[in-house]
Amino acid sequence: MLPKYSFVIPIYNEEEIIPELYRRLSIVMNRMDGIVELILINDGSRDRSLQIIRELHQKDPRVCYLSFARNFGHQLAVTAGLNFVRGQVIVILDADLQDPPELIPDMVEKWRQGYQVVYAQRSQRLKEGRFKRFTAYFFYRVLKKLADVDIPTDTGDFCLMDRQIVDILNSMPERARYIRGLRSWVGFQQTAIRFERDPRFAGEVKYTFSKSLALAINGLVSFSIVPLRLSTYLGLVAAVAAILMAFLVLYWRIFVPNSPLTGFTIILMAIFFLGSVQLVSVGILGEYIGRIYEEVKARPLYTLAEVGGFYHKSSNSTNNSDEYQVSVGDEGAK
Ligand code: UDP
Ligand code: MG
Repeated sequence: MLPKYSFVIPIYNEEEIIPELYRRLSIVMNRMDGIVELILINDGSRDRSLQIIRELHQKDPRVCYLSFARNFGHQLAVTAGLNFVRGQVIVILDADLQDPPELIPDMVEKWRQGYQVVYAQRSQRLKEGRFKRFTAYFFYRVLKKLADVDIPTDTGDFCLMDRQIVDILNSMPERARYIRGLRSWVGFQQTAIRFERDPRFAGEVKYTFSKSLALAINGLVSFSIVPLRLSTYLGLVAAVAAILMAFLVLYWRIFVPNSPLTGFTIILMAIFFLGSVQLVSVGILGEYIGRIYEEVKARPLYTLAEVGGFYHKSSNSTNNSDEYQVSVGDEGAK
């Protein structure tokens, strides 16, 4: 029997959390009206996460897992999970219990009402640090202004998606996987469900500042070309400033013989100003060119070292799990 529900959870060094995660999830899983598969993706953890996942898989056949050959990052871990899901209804959630599994039945209810995407929207982040709250607040609003698809504010990857949506996501060839953006891009009937984000259950935040920044830039650059236009605007501003300056300098030269602002000072100012405008522009351009380079290289998105479970192949999915099915045994060991 194929599962009806698939829960997709990326795991990176979460050994303290997995047992509690499993405990809370199994309560939810037992109450669902269909078979559930729990897909855990080990994103190159360096702690005991993989062993714990293997044990869970031995104990409970509903638990399937993928294990990356190294750390590829949250978005790619989720992508891999989506490639393998077999259910009709797919739920993505974080491992750290910041996304409460108890919300899933409410999401399913919305799905029954005909929504293909139900995303969880954080109503407040009181329990997160002030810096994180401020930057997240700011970023989501900038993104909303600039992006050409309507990406709802304050939503992460915690969501429910219909199979239809996941099939489309899986068929998208792009390497830059900003899942919450791609999910909005797809369209269909989407709705929000509000929730209060709990603090992390245990362990440290796995999204370091630099990873969060990379994700934010990725989101912006993948969904907007407005930054590229920025250099055009900056260039125009610089040109207008230059013309005004020319008149000013001329004026000083003729009418104010010993003005301290002419000569050296003004040249230095102009050099610094233009220099920074140019560097910023080149940097923005570089972001886009770098992405083109990534796409053109067309490397696989991730490498799998181990797969456990997935014995029945879904007939209607576009996933690429068949090539791994034969080679991987019950222990998934190699
Ligand atoms: N995660 C991952 N790979 C990474 C970083 C994080 O799979 O390189 C997972 C992590 O295990 C967790 C989720 O992504 O399940 C979210 O990470 P975290 O809670 O640290 O970030 P937050 O979004 O809460 O800041
Ligand atoms: Mg978290």
